Amino acid sequence: MAKYTPMIEQYLKVKEGAKDAFLFFRLGDFYEMFFEDALLASKELEITLTGREGGGDERIPMCGVPYHSAEGYIQRLIEKGYKVAICEQLDDPATTKGMVRRDIVRVVTPGTVMEGRTLADKNNNYLVCVTELDGMAALAACDLTTGELYVTSSPASEEGLRGEIGIYEPAEILGDGELLERLRSDSLPGGKPIVYTPWEKKDEEKARGQFGEAVWARLERERAQCLSILISYLNETQRRSLGQLSHISSYEPGNFMILDPFTRRNLELTETVRERSKKGSLLWLLDRTETSMGARLLRRRIDKPLLQRHQIERRLEAVEHLYNQFILREELRLALKEIYDLERLTGRVAYGSANGRDLNALKLSLAQIPSLKELCLSSASSTLRELGEAIDECADLREIIEKAIIDDPPVSIRDGGMIRPGYHERLDELREAGSSGKRWIAELEAKERQATGIKSLKIGFNKVFGYYIEVTRSNLSSLPEGRYERKQTLANAERFVTPELKEKEALILEAQDKMTDLEYTLFSELRDRLCAQIPRLQRLAENVAEIDVYQGLAAVSAEHRFVKPTLTDGYDLHVEGGRHPVVEAVLKDASFIANDSSLSKQNGRILLITGPNMAGKSTYMRQVALICILAQIGCFVPADKAEIPVIDRVFTRIGAADDLIGGQSTFMVEMADIQLMTEQATPRSLIIIDELGRGTSTGEGMAIAQAVIEYVHDVIGCKALVSTHFHELAHMEEMLEGLRNYSMAVQESGDKVQFLRKLIPGPADSSYGIYCARLAGLPGSIIDRAYGLLQNMEQMTSPAGGIREGAENGAGITTIREAANTEASTRKAAITEAAIREAAAGIATRRDAG
Ligand code: ADP
Repeated sequence: MAKYTPMIEQYLKVKEGAKDAFLFFRLGDFYEMFFEDALLASKELEITLTGREGGGDERIPMCGVPYHSAEGYIQRLIEKGYKVAICEQLDDPATTKGMVRRDIVRVVTPGTVMEGRTLADKNNNYLVCVTELDGMAALAACDLTTGELYVTSSPASEEGLRGEIGIYEPAEILGDGELLERLRSDSLPGGKPIVYTPWEKKDEEKARGQFGEAVWARLERERAQCLSILISYLNETQRRSLGQLSHISSYEPGNFMILDPFTRRNLELTETVRERSKKGSLLWLLDRTETSMGARLLRRRIDKPLLQRHQIERRLEAVEHLYNQFILREELRLALKEIYDLERLTGRVAYGSANGRDLNALKLSLAQIPSLKELCLSSASSTLRELGEAIDECADLREIIEKAIIDDPPVSIRDGGMIRPGYHERLDELREAGSSGKRWIAELEAKERQATGIKSLKIGFNKVFGYYIEVTRSNLSSLPEGRYERKQTLANAERFVTPELKEKEALILEAQDKMTDLEYTLFSELRDRLCAQIPRLQRLAENVAEIDVYQGLAAVSAEHRFVKPTLTDGYDLHVEGGRHPVVEAVLKDASFIANDSSLSKQNGRILLITGPNMAGKSTYMRQVALICILAQIGCFVPADKAEIPVIDRVFTRIGAADDLIGGQSTFMVEMADIQLMTEQATPRSLIIIDELGRGTSTGEGMAIAQAVIEYVHDVIGCKALVSTHFHELAHMEEMLEGLRNYSMAVQESGDKVQFLRKLIPGPADSSYGIYCARLAGLPGSIIDRAYGLLQNMEQMTSPAGGIREGAENGAGITTIREAANTEASTRKAAITEAAIREAAAGIATRRDAG
């Protein structure tokens, strides 16, 4: 067995405590890595791999990074999903005999980074912990940078847990290894890679010490357990006090509209399906916030629309007021613009990483609060007034920072130069001593020049030799012998010291050391004083964020001609002139065609929508869902008029090619979604199914589609929008009293088809699939052949025969064409005519306007 040197032995011992992390082992000015860590890190960071004798038989692989630029390397490893344990020297090597002690001071993990590129201002960085206890699943989520802490629980269900996790889009998930394995799913939408960390509770007592016993007592058992596991991980990795975690938000999932991960994704609430970018999402359209905390709050609100009418109305009241008060909105905006990220600043204060500039940013932000408060208090909105009253200006905190810190302090807090004169008597004295010393040096320079007659003689300072007298080589002969002691030789100059210079230097340096030490102490004291006030600052940040969200929503609503929705506790949904907010915004020529929606017990609560591809079906269906979501987050909606019953859950099943996930076929994914829907939808839900029954044979697909629609109609009884390319399903209107056929109008002229994007009653005639194929540029021979085949098939499926394949499976499919031949179709033709005229006129006026 090889025997290692004491240093390597020390390394191995420390490494025991950080097996799943890279160990950055501090050796002088470098963090070194050894063994496997070095092999992997040299690849991942593209740094040179070297070796070192360590007492063993072979050289030990080693690589390292300079400590002053370590942050960037750490970031890169974190971004790749690794963890990094930082091991520091605990003793000063200059004054220690033998080996210095070393230990891990912090483990950086994806869910616990405090700074760097991975932290986008407008996004949270969550660490989530999940547990299961006695049939209850619990989830705790924490953003260490802002101090937010949430905990919730519900009867255990993997779907429910996945949905809740999806809302946080965590960087890292903790939990029992077996549970994580079950949850680990490639099909969890959301762009960021997630790091799964199996973790069991350690040192429970310490974890519980984070909050008073009364706080724990109020939490449900499973929530308390989950939270204490999360905190034990933070204690283990951060190894310092977590002052920013002062408040727990414990909530019931049932108090919010449930949006499963697929629905959030399909509706592109916070990112687009294709590029996974914020641009093009609902959040992108709505985000007019001026502060980062406002932006993060807006995102949380989009993820969690409300269910309580009075809460929604409280929000709408503020938005309405600001919608109408342009000047107030502008004044608020100007004040908000000057407010920095209070949450993250507070996080840094708590963490001990705040510097003088951070405190000044805090001070400047606090300076805006009085006017913000005043604007709210004097407004006519009761919601804003309430917020104004709740605002604590924290003027005392602003004052102590103002008194202590100069206007433009340096980045480092170790080198002094940040405390204001007059703040501390002893510091002022030391400074005076320091500057009188410097004056003495300046006088000495003049004196020496005169005595030697060397005009270019100068006194300089460097860290190695301290103060010195520099004389150029050509003047050396003028220097008298004896008093000058040679210290350093340069290319064309010599540097000397004299006894009196050395003596004064000792005094000056001592004063300087004392000064920087004292400044650091004073700064730390100040930071500790602020630390004790963190809950106040956090509450203030929340109030500011909320005001910011209201002004932002009011601004978008005004700009995009949204209207205030009326929320009801009833069932019926009525929208006049509804639009898809994002599609409308990206259509530059203002050519978006508005459509009404009426889903009611009386006039049909399921709309079966047919129409060719590209006709606008899915845009329409999404727009209805988005209008409901917008209303329930407390925003105005893109419509002329909207009456929205509170929706408890939106289900979407929107088929798309990129649903091929984890080897599952589109069809299997669709069926799994539908299964979930049948299990969980209530009469207050809204179901949206696009292209129901795709992905399997026509007959089967149609049969399943019909059976699903019947189930939604008869058993669930909720509102639903269903699009299908099975025109044959139109006959269901006769069987299901709550179902109505609709289609997207198209205008045919010659062999051209124009999409009018107008929703009209009655089913579509054909799907124009071949027409679309032609638009896509398929060769003419294919198109001709397809038309020929279609004709043949239509003859085969004439009314008498029905579709052969489907006839065995789906009841009623033989009635397919019958409907088309009835007088209903004549009625429809007339309505279509009218719609075409209306839509065409709409297009014409918009063009004129544009
Ligand atoms: P479908 O689902 O019927 O295939 P989409 O809803 O995907 O059709 O719409 C196709 C395109 O038509 C959209 O990308 C959008 O640009 C445009 N579109 C849809 N609805 C409208 C509308 N109401 N007004 C203007 N353009 C629309």
